[in-house]
Amino acid sequence: SRTPLTLLGTGAMGTALARAWLAAGHEVTVWNRTPARAQALAAEGAVVAASAAAAVAANRLVIACLLDDASVGEALDGADLAGRDLVNLTTGTPGEGRARAAWAEARGARFLDGGIMAVPPMVGDPDSGGYVFYSGSPEAFEEHRDTLAVPAGTRYVGADPGFAALHDVALLSAMNGMFAGVAHAFALIRPEDIAPKDFAPLLFGWLTAMAPAVHQTADQLESRDYTRNVVSNLAMQAAGIPTFLRTAEEQHVSPELLAPYLELMKRRVAQGHGDEDGTGIIELLDTRRGA
Ligand code: NDP
Repeated sequence: SRTPLTLLGTGAMGTALARAWLAAGHEVTVWNRTPARAQALAAEGAVVAASAAAAVAANRLVIACLLDDASVGEALDGADLAGRDLVNLTTGTPGEGRARAAWAEARGARFLDGGIMAVPPMVGDPDSGGYVFYSGSPEAFEEHRDTLAVPAGTRYVGADPGFAALHDVALLSAMNGMFAGVAHAFALIRPEDIAPKDFAPLLFGWLTAMAPAVHQTADQLESRDYTRNVVSNLAMQAAGIPTFLRTAEEQHVSPELLAPYLELMKRRVAQGHGDEDGTGIIELLDTRRGA
């Protein structure tokens, strides 16, 4: 029989998760700080608990999907976690994940932290490619993996409870960098010069063609040889910096999204690494090394 579970937080993501488990035949007890926001789920078969403590008391498997780590502490303050398996799908930092794990374990619970790599419409759709990183108690993950796999794919990334958040935030950080570049590119073309709808497929194709470079970066990092298989060396790339900056100026576009990366390129070349590609820039970002 399917594992009954408790879900704390019926925001956009919590509601999507609850629907997926309900649809798969799980008994779901929900709690939300603002009760009205849980009512739609009651009509779909969820049990609405009157308090977070009551929701936690209802089931051994407790899933939290709240705004941030502070809201998890607030919601669970006063709940008895002894003997519970707490799965925290609230986005946080690796440090918050580790601290929350210690906090939960001190209260007698096993703990898993999760990082959701999906948006609500992808949840419950096995073809969407959405998944969740999990880290923390390997025993809790083993026991609940089938239940956890209902709303989205599962990727267990280690016993260190900080690792789910670390994977999650690293991927989202790369996404932010990509979106920064996309914003700069669309700003440059100016809709009166080039139609955005004509440009978008070109942009998509170029980003897709460049994406495999991440494997080259990984290969160089692991071999500690940043000159290995270099295609476009940094000296050549740095020579093009004025072109980037002057094009931005000609198009009346602020270079503020691009400039920090160009500065790091220049610094690396100035340090005598013009024969590398971008991998050495990663060292410049390490705040423990000093610049
Ligand atoms: P929403 O803003 O829709 O929901 C936030 C939820 O947190 C609500 O249930 C809200 O309750 C609750 N909450 C906020 N503060 C507190 C508090 N102090 N005590 C108790 N409950 C509180 O956000 P989402 O559902 O979209 O996101 C939830 C988590 O999922 C976040 O950590 C988010 O980063 C993560 N996530 C979301 C994605 C998305 O695309 N939506 C994608 C990947 C991850 P109330 O209704 O009372 O305000």
